[in-house]
Amino acid sequence: MSPRRSTVDAAVVGAGLAGLITARELRRAGRSVLVLEARDRVGGRLLNADIGDGKVVEVGGQWAGPTQARVLALARELRIDTFPTHTDGENLIEWRSRLVRYRGPLPRINAAVLLDVGQAQARIDRMARRVPLDAPWLAPKAELWDGQTVESWLRHNVATAGARDLFRIAVEAVWAADAADVSLLHLLFYTHSAGGFDDLIGTDGGAQQDRFVGGSQLLALRLADELGDAVALEEPVRRIEHSDSGVRLVTDEREVSAGAAVVAIPPALCGRIVYDPPLPAIRDQLTQRMPQGTVIKCMAVYERPFWREAGLSGQAMSSHGPVKVMFDNSPPDGTPGVLLGFLEGRQARVLGEWEPDARRRAVVECFRRLFGPEAASPLDYVERVWAQEEWTRGCYGCYMPPGGWVSYGRALRAPVGHIHWAGAETATVWNGYMDGAIQSGERAAAQVLDAMS
Ligand SMILES: Cc1cc2nc3c(=O)[nH]c(=O)nc-3n(C[C@H](O)[C@H](O)[C@H](O)COP(=O)(O)OP(=O)(O)OC[C@H]3O[C@@H](n4cnc5c(N)ncnc54)[C@H](O)[C@@H]3O)c2cc1C
Repeated sequence: MSPRRSTVDAAVVGAGLAGLITARELRRAGRSVLVLEARDRVGGRLLNADIGDGKVVEVGGQWAGPTQARVLALARELRIDTFPTHTDGENLIEWRSRLVRYRGPLPRINAAVLLDVGQAQARIDRMARRVPLDAPWLAPKAELWDGQTVESWLRHNVATAGARDLFRIAVEAVWAADAADVSLLHLLFYTHSAGGFDDLIGTDGGAQQDRFVGGSQLLALRLADELGDAVALEEPVRRIEHSDSGVRLVTDEREVSAGAAVVAIPPALCGRIVYDPPLPAIRDQLTQRMPQGTVIKCMAVYERPFWREAGLSGQAMSSHGPVKVMFDNSPPDGTPGVLLGFLEGRQARVLGEWEPDARRRAVVECFRRLFGPEAASPLDYVERVWAQEEWTRGCYGCYMPPGGWVSYGRALRAPVGHIHWAGAETATVWNGYMDGAIQSGERAAAQVLDAMS
């Protein structure tokens, strides 16, 4: 069968938030556009899961923070309400086999450890502010900072073992990678792009403050509704041919000719498309150096959020794991009760190889240790192993290991002829988040329009 042929002003690869925003901006500017999406659904790393009675939880991205202006504005425009993450009550930390209740952002485990954490965090924030958001490789100490992992920095600069362990948990929670995987310069860039370290890890006032009524995937679903048949599902882009006159995108069923392409997928996946002629070496090698993190998002569903009755917020940390970070993820009306736990980095790699039943038992057992016997018998259990998803291959997103920014960073957003790059990983503000994905789509659309004018 001969392929379908389409001709548009611009073709977009990927119907995640970045691709959908790119398409919307181009359409608003009067350009014809076609979004080619590999999956049979839109939203990419945003995905609602039904838990009955019309309620949903998100197995992908879900939270928005107060400084994430773009995603909050988009939600308002699409008439999607937000509600606060449940934080009333005391938090828990399981620390070296002791279970401690605490209020506020930091657990009262040991005064020396807390002092150490505070000093290290202040240092990170100071260094982060010196990293230019559009060119991290131009930071005054870029070579030094990109030449070491976060783990090496912790070992040399954080005195107490307890503070180092707390930071390791925070790094796993934010990047779904181990401190030994991530370049210090990447941590500093990412921290600056969010505002500060507290903005990344915080619930009240931070990135985990609010949730979307009806689930975050609604953002993508409503954008796709607006775009109508400009979004084609189950059409993975296999090949992009490009020349001075434009681009041709090849899927299994279609060939799309366009003046420009915007590839709105994670860098690690950009490297799996065939380009003809091949991309410049620096761009290709960039895609070889930005791995995805590893995360399994796990939720246990209970008749009611019983921990609230015991004065607990549902927010918890464990040095023992395998779930190290937990939240109350119940719907806005608190019914049913949902406990959310993340398996991240090494834990996600190890438990990702287990049978689903064994993994569920390990996660639920962890909830039981922290929240008591009632947590042992959930009515339902929902999880998503993102590293096993063909069209994502890990999460929350791609990060830079040492050397990445300094040697390859300049290829991250630079167009190659008529091929442009979008996606949360290309953002300068809230890099890696929904907010950043939106910024990247706006920027890529502006680049294309500029080149076409
Ligand atoms: C478990 C988890 C928790 C998270 N938590 C949060 C959070 O609380 N708050 C927050 O802001 N962010 C969070 N994130 C990150 C957030 O989800 C992402 O930053 C954002 O959704 C990325 O959007 P995107 O459009 O850049 O990429 P994606 O959503 O990855 O979209 C890319 C799209 O391209 C498609 N695709 C891939 N390859 C091809 C191809 N060859 N041809 C055609 N289509 C292709 C994919 O199927 C996908 O639909 C989380 C992510 C995960 C997984």
